[in-house]
Amino acid sequence: YYNEKSIIFYDGDYVKAAEASTGLYGQSLHYGYAVFEGIKSYKTDHGTRIFKAKEHYERLVKSAELMLIPFNYTADEMVDITYKLLEMNGLENAYIRPIVICSPNMALSKGKESYLAIEVWNWDNGYLANEMKVMTSSFERPNPKAFKVEAKVSGHYVNSILACQEAKDKGFDEAIVLDADGNVAESSGANVFFEKEGKLFTAPKGSILPGITRATVFEICDNLGIPYEEKFFKPEEMRGADAGFFCGTAAEIVALDSMDNVPFKLKWEDSVASVIQQAYRHLVLEQDYIYLKSKLQYA
Ligand code: PMP
Repeated sequence: YYNEKSIIFYDGDYVKAAEASTGLYGQSLHYGYAVFEGIKSYKTDHGTRIFKAKEHYERLVKSAELMLIPFNYTADEMVDITYKLLEMNGLENAYIRPIVICSPNMALSKGKESYLAIEVWNWDNGYLANEMKVMTSSFERPNPKAFKVEAKVSGHYVNSILACQEAKDKGFDEAIVLDADGNVAESSGANVFFEKEGKLFTAPKGSILPGITRATVFEICDNLGIPYEEKFFKPEEMRGADAGFFCGTAAEIVALDSMDNVPFKLKWEDSVASVIQQAYRHLVLEQDYIYLKSKLQYA
């Protein structure tokens, strides 16, 4: 992720990653009481662009607020810092990882002070593997009565590690994780959609991290006239559907090959979901919907 030249933003300064460290006496390390973001920048025809930068940083501010972590940066300030950081590191296609860490304090009460770190690293190796084989996890998502699930909190990801590793140990690529009522919620680090008769379905807010990519999928659907619905559904309804995909900043739009070894019916290229995938690839490169409609086969 970093080498001896890498620069990060750390508690108000731009410093060498190799020289930055955090203490051992904090709630963020001991209790997972920190909030973070996962953002990506792309090399476009107009220069380097951070996709949905403001939306991500607004979610970071919101996550801190929900977790009662004092935090004073505005989204606009953080966007500016990040562009500067990308430039200092000579990065175009990059992954951006801001984290709000609580200052030393070991109490089980709200954070007293926090500081912001932003790390950036190269993400040139294109898109992640398409056509993933996924399984329904034996782990549930964090219960919304126990956690602020709509916040992106470090501690929540212990659950993601368990679910993802279980899937890998069983020979799958990823997990589909259910909510406390047995409905499909999301993946370990992405939201989940399935397609049936040309319409897309995804879980409503409640037990999911409401993804910025998920919102972008809705935006694409609205612009291209693709029908979609947010609803609760059981894994049986998704298994063997026409198509399925994961969406998230890191994953982008990733096709699912099968769920619990049951293949999705359509060839990915024949699904409406594949149109969304192509549209997303155009959008991150800042191409507008007029251009996009001229390129895509969806009337
Ligand atoms: N759910 C979880 C649990 C995630 O970690 C992520 C990735 N941040 C998402 C959904 C997708 O969110 P986004 O599209 O904002 O990256």
